[in-house]
Amino acid sequence: MDLSSEMDRVMPFSLHYGAIVGSYHWLIFLFLCSAEYPDLRKHNNCMASHLTPAIYAKLCDKATPNGFTLDQAIQTGVDNPGHPFIKTVGMVAGDEESYEVFGDLLDPVITERHNGYDPRTMKHPTDLDASKIHSGQFDERYVLSSRVRTGRSIRGLSLPPACTRAERREVERVVIDALSGLKGDLTGRYYSLTQMTEKEQQQLIDDHFLFDKPVSPLLTCSGMARDWPDARGIWHNNEKTFLIWVNEEDHTRVISMEKGGNMKRVFERFCRGLKEVERLIQERGWEFMWNERLGYILTCPSNLGTGLRAGVHVKLPLLSKDPRFSKILDNLRLQKRGTGGVDTAAVGGTFDISNLDRLGHSEVQLVQTVIDGVNYLVECEKKLEKGQDIKVPPPIKQFK
Ligand code: ADP
Ligand code: MG
Repeated sequence: MDLSSEMDRVMPFSLHYGAIVGSYHWLIFLFLCSAEYPDLRKHNNCMASHLTPAIYAKLCDKATPNGFTLDQAIQTGVDNPGHPFIKTVGMVAGDEESYEVFGDLLDPVITERHNGYDPRTMKHPTDLDASKIHSGQFDERYVLSSRVRTGRSIRGLSLPPACTRAERREVERVVIDALSGLKGDLTGRYYSLTQMTEKEQQQLIDDHFLFDKPVSPLLTCSGMARDWPDARGIWHNNEKTFLIWVNEEDHTRVISMEKGGNMKRVFERFCRGLKEVERLIQERGWEFMWNERLGYILTCPSNLGTGLRAGVHVKLPLLSKDPRFSKILDNLRLQKRGTGGVDTAAVGGTFDISNLDRLGHSEVQLVQTVIDGVNYLVECEKKLEKGQDIKVPPPIKQFK
């Protein structure tokens, strides 16, 4: 028996009754959601700023086709209220679809993190033409090393916070197979973490070539470090100037780096190698996750768009002690880290300085921003050495 039509017959006020029952169920649902709502009162990350009880209620029972939920997406930001050195995003994607299904939360998070970029209305540009770069040679009395990295994800396989063991191994297989096609100065080989000795691994970490062990709570709380070190490794060319990390925070991280201050040359190799890697992946019937609103799709929303972090290790002992240092970096849209990576403090006035944004500007624009910004910082350092005054530059424009 159809209960509602039966009630229509016997109860003249059934419409009102239905509405009452409906809102009653809605109230119970809201009550259950509020009982699940995380305590974010002490948090300082982008997720916590935008996850209102109403958005939580709207998204908490949703899942992507792979079964990835809102609670999984925000767990890292719930468990890590803040970070001592950077303002984190506080959430991750488990697959390409996460960015659609949880868009009501991710869109404002992305806007905050990427300097006002609106993923609902804006389109992301790509430009890997390194010949457009100018002033790409830094003063090597200050700049010790130069590096450009991005990430790329293989469409159809879940991202590290959500992938199965089989998917993770499939990523490794597809990527190593493709990389075996690299030629000339890019020729190299893969080093699996499971086959490396502890000493070899530590040496690669100390030399800044390899990702750290999964000690960072940002990594562990998001689920990315499950089954470590299964299917993780590093591929590099013989000179260790072109490197690909497999299955750390992203399916792949593609890196070009060298000692010294020749950022233009580093970026040239980055562009050439990256295009070659994409061609080899496509030749084997796979493609990268990408769309025109968000650019390249990666695990952390802070890496969407270009996925590009162009950075230098630079000595700024005087400027870094100046109270205006942070403001200068903010205005130039630069970020500082310690030289041991994202979770380390700077020692001896040497910093990892890189671009803050990844989305809404092309690779060429971001690398140029870093070049101009780092040159400005080095000029400031020189002025302070001579006892001259420095200026806080005007802020780089927001998208809106
Ligand atoms: P990413 O954003 O690429 O994940 P991390 O901050 O996690 O970078 O650092 C990863 C490793 O890369 C660390 O060992 C770090 O020292 C090294 N690294 C980063 N930038 C540079 C640079 N400009 N020169 C040398 N090594 C670098
Ligand atoms: Mg990292």
